[in-house]
Amino acid sequence: MKIRLHPGLAMALALLPAALQAQSPVKTRMNQLADGLEKKVVAWRREIHQNPELGNREFQTSAKVAAHLHALGLEVKTNVAKTGVVAILKGGKPGPVVALRADMDGLPVTERVDVPFKSGVTTEYNGQKTGVMHACGHDSHVAILMGVAEVLAAVKNDLKGTVKFIFQPAEEGAPAGEEGGAKLMVKEGVLDNPKVDAIFGLHINSQTEVGTIKYRPGATMAAVDWFSIKVKGKQTHGAAPWSGVDPVVTASQIVMGLQTIVSRNLPITEGAAVVTVGAIHGGIRQNIIPEEVNMIGTIRALNSEMQKTIHRRIPEVATNIAESAGAKADVSIETMYPVTYNDPSLTEQMVPTLEALAGKEKVVITPAQTGAEDFSFFQEKVPGFFYFLGGMPKGKKVEDAAPHHTPDFYIDEGGFVLGIKSLCHLTVDYMDQWKGTAAAVSSKKK
Ligand SMILES: [Zn+2]
Ligand SMILES: [Zn+2]
Repeated sequence: MKIRLHPGLAMALALLPAALQAQSPVKTRMNQLADGLEKKVVAWRREIHQNPELGNREFQTSAKVAAHLHALGLEVKTNVAKTGVVAILKGGKPGPVVALRADMDGLPVTERVDVPFKSGVTTEYNGQKTGVMHACGHDSHVAILMGVAEVLAAVKNDLKGTVKFIFQPAEEGAPAGEEGGAKLMVKEGVLDNPKVDAIFGLHINSQTEVGTIKYRPGATMAAVDWFSIKVKGKQTHGAAPWSGVDPVVTASQIVMGLQTIVSRNLPITEGAAVVTVGAIHGGIRQNIIPEEVNMIGTIRALNSEMQKTIHRRIPEVATNIAESAGAKADVSIETMYPVTYNDPSLTEQMVPTLEALAGKEKVVITPAQTGAEDFSFFQEKVPGFFYFLGGMPKGKKVEDAAPHHTPDFYIDEGGFVLGIKSLCHLTVDYMDQWKGTAAAVSSKKK
């Protein structure tokens, strides 16, 4: 059957908004380039996977990245925040500066997955022999962003602005006594010269199906802090506790007391929080009440007001319980990562780009996570959008897919091309929609 359009209707269709028409020629070209790069990107990822390196030690990985960026003709800076690589791609037309970030580090995990490119790397970590594995998928991030650089370099004459590629070391944390990660990159000025207007980053996810993208506006991943409590009592014979002050019983009371911070002091409808005591050490023998007990733990919060309340309450609870027992508690809290906070207006602006690319039903809002991500340090300074890319084989059940940081962690490479296209489309659309001033950092938060 043939349908002939009324001339007036044909005219009306031609006037439809750009978003409803076929995509722009530059997007079509980028998609073709990304499709053509798939094999290369997978090969890069496998090589990086087989040769994982821990935080601040990403020497081979960053050399590989730098060589690739040099070959593309980008302005490349190495040894940023120890082993980081930063490259600038100037587009053919003026416009904003968009930063794209990939983290590069592996983890002290011994790989158990049976793939031809399995990691056989071992090292000593905190005094223990361990394997090294890309058990969080940062190998995928590096390969995907290398692919993005190649695509964007090929269309640079059409770009209305500048792209800053940030290959970041030590997302999982720097070795003891060292600085590192996004925090150090920011400190070294990675967001300046040229000044970044917006930053995008993705995280592959082993429990999200290939083809799906997940995101959340606002607080997405938690702030994380560490605390330690030293409880000092008075040592005595285990058979005569009344002649001393027992730090074991006192520490136990403190552990229980800490449970009331989240349950009794926080407005839990406003966001989740966690206070966990992860280790207690004290004593040496059945019949000696020791002088001292040491505890360490972690704090998670999705809201910085709640984080402040926790920081205030832990010392109050610990020192007052200790005092009531005649003991003394010394509390120290180390602030680690801020909340990973997707700027709400930037998120609203960019989600249609992902929906147009992946399909509306494949771009879904995810619950906030109590895990942390140091992308938050960039988002503290400039509006940023961080999202999750499916890396689980299609048809697999989530409960059968190993979580991140485990020896069985596995990524299906079938989602990489979508990852490349997503970062390219976000960059181009952000530049196209640029009105001359950066969105205010509405991450003045939470
Ligand atoms: Zn991780
Ligand atoms: Zn990670």
